[in-house]
Amino acid sequence: MNKRKILFYLLISIFITACGSGTDATQGADETSADLSKTFKWKMVTTWPANFPIFQQGAEKFADDVRTMSNGRLDIRVYAGGELVPPLQVFDAVSQGVSEMGHGSAYYWAGKVPEAQFFSTVPFGMTAKGMNAWLYNGGGLEIWQEIYKPFNLTTFPMGNTGVQMGGWFNKQINSLEDVKGLRMRIPGLGGKVFKKAGGNPVLMAGGEIYTALERGTLDATEWVAPFHDMRLGLNRAAKYYYYPGWHEPGTVFELMINDSKWQTLPADLQKIVEVTAAATSEWIYAQMEFHNQEALIVLKTKKNVEIIQFPDEVLLELRRLTKVTLDEEAEANPKFKHVYDAYENFRASYKGWDELSEQAYQNSLKLE
Ligand code: CA
Repeated sequence: MNKRKILFYLLISIFITACGSGTDATQGADETSADLSKTFKWKMVTTWPANFPIFQQGAEKFADDVRTMSNGRLDIRVYAGGELVPPLQVFDAVSQGVSEMGHGSAYYWAGKVPEAQFFSTVPFGMTAKGMNAWLYNGGGLEIWQEIYKPFNLTTFPMGNTGVQMGGWFNKQINSLEDVKGLRMRIPGLGGKVFKKAGGNPVLMAGGEIYTALERGTLDATEWVAPFHDMRLGLNRAAKYYYYPGWHEPGTVFELMINDSKWQTLPADLQKIVEVTAAATSEWIYAQMEFHNQEALIVLKTKKNVEIIQFPDEVLLELRRLTKVTLDEEAEANPKFKHVYDAYENFRASYKGWDELSEQAYQNSLKLE
C-alpha cells in the first residue's frame, strides 16, 4: 500500500470514528443513557400491616414491577407499617427522607393536613371513577401535589378501595334514634358527621376492633368491605351488616415520594414510577371488586349475617350533616376551603354526565 492510500484509509477511519463519537456525544448528553449504570436503592414504608391482602400486596407489586421495568436500576424495598416506622409516621418519614417512598391514604394525615382528606375520601363524596376523572384530568392531582410541596413531598394516586360497607352493628338501625349514643369505631370526617348525628365515635386501631365489638365495648364498627371484614372475623362479632359505606365511597391510596429524592431520578425512571403507580391503582381497585363480590356471596349463603340497607331517613340526615361538617371545616381553614371548592366544582360539573350515564344505566337494569 502506498503512502497516499494509507493516508486515504486513515482519513476514512478518522471520519468514521468522528461520526461514531459524534453519536456517542449526543447520547452522552442525553440524561437517560448517561444514568443507565446508576442504581437507586430506595425504601418504601406503608401504613398497612405486613402481608395485608391487596393493600400491602399492591405496594409490593408496585416495587416488583418497577424493578423489572427498570432492569433493576430502581430497586425499592417495601416495609409494612411498624417494620421501619409506625404506620402513622409514614408521612413524616417520607417528608424527612428517612424513606424515599410511602404508601397509605391521605386522610391519615388529617391532623397535619386536613385538606388532604379530599384526596382520600369524604362522606357522600365521589366514587372511584369520579375521583379518577378529577385527579387525572380535572386538576385534582395538581392541587394535591401543590399542598404536599411544602412538606418536600410529591404524590400520585395508587389504589382505590371502591365503595366500602357501612359497617357492623350489634343492634338494628331503624331510625335516627338508634344512632344516638351508639359507640362506633368510625374515624375521620365520617366520625365527625356521626357525632353530629348523636353517635359516639371511637378511635381504635384495626387490631383491637374484633375483641371490642365481641365484648360490647363497641356497639358498631366500620372497617372496609366484605373481603377484609370477613378476614378480620367481624361477621362473628356482630349480626347486622349495613350498607352503603356513606362515609367512604371510594378511598384513594397515595404513593408519596420525597421530592428532593424524586428530583434525582432520571426521566425514564420517573416515568416508570408514574405509570406503574397508575397501573397499581387499577390493580388494587380490580382486586377489591373481585374479592368483595366473592366474599359477599359467602356472607350471604354461608354465614349467619343480616345484610341491611340504612333507612333513607338516616342516610338523608347523615348527608345533610356532612355538608354542615364540611362547611364548618372550610370556614375555619382557608386551605381546606380551597380544596373543598375545587372538589365541589368538579363534582357539580360531573354530576350531569354521571347521572345520565352510569346511574341511568344501572337504573335500567332494575326495571321490571
Ligand atoms: Ca373504612
